[in-house]
Amino acid sequence: MEFDDENEKDVKDDNIDDAAIEEAIFRILKGVGEDPQREGLQFTPRRVARMYHELLGGYTMDPTAVINGALFDVKYDEMVIVRDIEFYSMCEHHMLPFIGRAHVAYIPNGKVLGLSKIPRIVDMYARRLQVQERMTRQIADFLRDLLKPQGVAVVVEAMHLCSMMRGVKKHDARMTTSAMHGAFRANLASRQEFLANISRGAAPLQI
Ligand SMILES: [Zn+2]
Repeated sequence: MEFDDENEKDVKDDNIDDAAIEEAIFRILKGVGEDPQREGLQFTPRRVARMYHELLGGYTMDPTAVINGALFDVKYDEMVIVRDIEFYSMCEHHMLPFIGRAHVAYIPNGKVLGLSKIPRIVDMYARRLQVQERMTRQIADFLRDLLKPQGVAVVVEAMHLCSMMRGVKKHDARMTTSAMHGAFRANLASRQEFLANISRGAAPLQI
C-alpha cells in the first residue's frame, strides 16, 4: 500500500521535525508490542508526523497574519459575543484530544475585530499541546492586548479524551473554564449578560 493520506498537507514552515517524530512513533509502535512494518502501520509514523503540522501548527501561526488587517475603528460600545466556536486541542499531559467550544465576548473601546478572526485566534491557541485553563487565558489575554477593550471574557467548555478513554470518573471529562478582564470582572451585569447569552439554547456538549 502506498502512503496515500488524503489529508496530507504541504509541509508548512514550522518547527516540527518530521524525522524525529517518525522515529519516535516507530519506537512507540514497537514499544507497545506491534510490528511497525506490517501493512497498516507501515506509514503510520509518517502520517502522524504530517498530522502534527496541522494539529500542532498553532505555535508558529503569526498573529498579525491571523488578524490580517481586520481591525476597525468604530464608535460602538455594546458587547460583541461570538459563541459556540468549535475547537480541537491536545492535552499536554497525555497528548490526547480535548474537544469543545469556546465563547468569546468583548466590550469595544474604539476598536473591533472582524468576526471571522475570533475563531482563528481560538484555533491558534488550540493547535498546541495545551491545558484548557491556559488556552482560555491566552485567548482572553491576546484580545485584551490587541483591542484594549473595556472588557473581554472567554468561556471554554471541553471534553477530555484522556479522562473519557481511561475510564476515570466520566464527570471529570467535561470541564468549563473562564477568563475575564476589565468590565467583565468588575461589572456583574456585563458578566451575567454574557453568561446568559451563551447558555441560551445551548445544547449539551457531546462528542
Ligand atoms: Zn490529559
